[in-house]
Amino acid sequence: MRDSTEKPKPQAVNGEEAERIKRDALGIGDRRKHHTRTATPLRGHTKATDTHHRLHRFRFYPTEEQAEQLGRTFGACRWVYNEGLALRSRAWEQHRVNVGFAETCRALTGWKRAEESAWLKEVSSTVLQQALRHLDQAYGRFFRGDAKYPKRKKKGRSRDTATYVRTGFKWVEDPERQGTGLITLAKQSRPLDIRWSRSLPAGTVPVRLSVTRDRAGRYFVSTLVEERIAALPPVFMPGSAEPKPVGLDVGLASLVTLDDGSKLDHPRLLKRYAEKLARLQRELHRRVKGSRNREKARQKIARLYSLIHDVRKDMLDQFTTRLVRENQVLVVEDLSIVTLLRAARGKGRRRKARLNEAIADAAWGELLRQLRYKCEWYGRTLVIVDRFFPSTRRCSACHSKGPQMDVSVRAWTCAECGVVHGRDVNAAVNLRDEGMRLYWLVAARLPPAKKVPTVIKASELEECLPTA
Ligand SMILES: [Zn+2]
Repeated sequence: MRDSTEKPKPQAVNGEEAERIKRDALGIGDRRKHHTRTATPLRGHTKATDTHHRLHRFRFYPTEEQAEQLGRTFGACRWVYNEGLALRSRAWEQHRVNVGFAETCRALTGWKRAEESAWLKEVSSTVLQQALRHLDQAYGRFFRGDAKYPKRKKKGRSRDTATYVRTGFKWVEDPERQGTGLITLAKQSRPLDIRWSRSLPAGTVPVRLSVTRDRAGRYFVSTLVEERIAALPPVFMPGSAEPKPVGLDVGLASLVTLDDGSKLDHPRLLKRYAEKLARLQRELHRRVKGSRNREKARQKIARLYSLIHDVRKDMLDQFTTRLVRENQVLVVEDLSIVTLLRAARGKGRRRKARLNEAIADAAWGELLRQLRYKCEWYGRTLVIVDRFFPSTRRCSACHSKGPQMDVSVRAWTCAECGVVHGRDVNAAVNLRDEGMRLYWLVAARLPPAKKVPTVIKASELEECLPTA
């Protein structure tokens, strides 16, 4: 549907001509001089098969000097990200030339040499390269249709963040308390004062760090570590050798409905906190712009939002852990958030705008993200059914197709077999059955002793099926 309305893509300029444009018009240094070797890959090493990457976040309290240095680092990352974005946009709009990650890294070398942006030298260059890496990932999401075109980062609007790869920090484990230790960032002389709320696995070395400052002015360091996580024993249906499936219908009435009828309700935290938020917002508006009290009020609001975010994430964490423990095959619908947000431009905009809020609030993306990695950790299979599968309209009892239904219809009766369906439970049952059909389709074609893949995606089924 989307494709028919889009204009045909203009042809890209390639080869010698593109190289000339990059050199002369865009000022990107010569490939031969600044080799792509300057780029540090994000996943520079291959991980062992039974280990998994896991993030742990800790709060830390910087000294005044560290806070100042980090402030400069955040600013430089934002500047480099925006310059990279401008360069890539300009290259395409004016010259029809594609500029990639390696070329933005070459441009970075030039920016550091230029007098007006020589201050970039005060910041670790691997950190700046990671900012360009993030930009490249944002482009990747855009090209895949998972996100909108990358936007400029604004001071005070975007979260302050900087990523340090292995060469960008020093880690010394505490022999007295393993799994904790001293982390010293590049261009800093003293280790960070970290509150170790838990320990990393003993003997581990963080693969990557990101340092963030949230809108409430709190500093966090996220460590990415490799962990050995043992797969759980497989779960079978009672008295059989069939894997135990569960269908999950993600919706607006409840966040998730399972095929057995149990539900996880939407985190209505924003509603519960709405009153408090409204009071804080009134307070904010009373304060004079630029005053200290206004800044204080703004921080209180930011802290409330952080709290809501944390509680919601914890709630989803518990739910997905339980689901993954109790089931072998988890079936969900392929819900593209981008598609749903795009639909808000059409008729009934106001109603849909509220719908979008609810979607964002429910954090579908977070749910899927958690299911994906937990299925990988614990040896489960996640089946993602195609978005166009009529999970709501199909009668799960006789498989005949029911009427088109508005979001407000909660229950319906099948005209063919007379069974009364709860809207969401019926959808969950349909998803479970369709998911298992796909599961067996893949499983039946597997060579002996080969495990079923972690993710089976209906839209990429050909890639899941092993080639003969
Ligand atoms: Zn029926």
